Amino acid sequence: EVSAKVIDGKATAKEIREEIAAEISKMKESSGVVPGLAVILVGERKDSATYVRNKKKACESVGIKSYEVHLAEDCSEQEILQHISAFNDDPAVNGILVQLPLPSNMNEQNILNAVCIEKDVDGFSPLNIGRLAMRDREPLFVPCTPKGCIELLHRYGVPIKGKRAVVIGRSNIVGMPAALLLQREDATVTVVHSRTKNPEAITREADIVITAVGQPNMVRGSWIKPGAVVIDVGINPFEDTSCSRGYRLVGDVCYEEASKIASAITPVPGGVGPMTIAMLLSNTLSATKRAYNLE
Ligand code: NDP
Repeated sequence: EVSAKVIDGKATAKEIREEIAAEISKMKESSGVVPGLAVILVGERKDSATYVRNKKKACESVGIKSYEVHLAEDCSEQEILQHISAFNDDPAVNGILVQLPLPSNMNEQNILNAVCIEKDVDGFSPLNIGRLAMRDREPLFVPCTPKGCIELLHRYGVPIKGKRAVVIGRSNIVGMPAALLLQREDATVTVVHSRTKNPEAITREADIVITAVGQPNMVRGSWIKPGAVVIDVGINPFEDTSCSRGYRLVGDVCYEEASKIASAITPVPGGVGPMTIAMLLSNTLSATKRAYNLE
């Protein structure tokens, strides 16, 4: 029985953090610059709090100074905008991140638009996405999760040029930019979404599959072309009474089946997840270099 190579996002992310730490330490020595990342967290969502804590920890581990603002669930939009504006003006802050989702009564677009483009390390602004989509244009930042997917393909030596790629999911933060990135790398890209007819047959044509759906184990082994490379972005709670918390996290891909057919596959957890934070650090470092005109 064949078994896919495991694409170890955790180990790769660690490698990248070490590279970033080395670069930042050199930068501090030669120019005295310390990169800074500001994180704005609104409300008491546990998952958001965990993400923010992990981001701060990762910043510390590479020498990025983190600034956190934690606002109450019932704070005003005005209050958030004031913090963003202060961070926009603060030269010690090179990247600004608003942890999503925001409370549902808030105008997310308004708030994200307030982050100045040079500090938009999440890469979600329409200007960035527009540049990502256009030939011969360079985005200032590539959104972290799709950037992490492509980085894994690169570091594992997976050829992209001329290959057939299928992205399942078309969200603004993962699926759509992942498809744009693959196309920039000269793959022939098909996007599968909730209205796609016969997604299984389409996915089976792909040499590279990236899934960002949010449906546990939706992509079965039969969807995968033998030898394809599978990058599973999904992080989904799946009931499991044998776990103390009553659930475990699984991907969009049925790992057990797909790992017998693919040539390489990311696990969940330990695949794309850790890469996302590593790419945030990488974007913050580029923002800093750009701000100070370094290299
Ligand atoms: P969204 O809910 O924003 O988007 C889901 C996409 O999947 C939509 O485009 C939707 O199609 C499509 N979809 C839903 N059901 C089906 C179906 N049955 N068949 C085909 N397509 C379907 O999710 P996100 O992109 O934000 O997140 C996707 C997953 O990735 C989640 O599990 C999330 O937790 C995880 N995630 C992981 C990150 C990481 O760091 N590893 C970061 C961000 C997300 P349509 O457009 O037609 O509605």
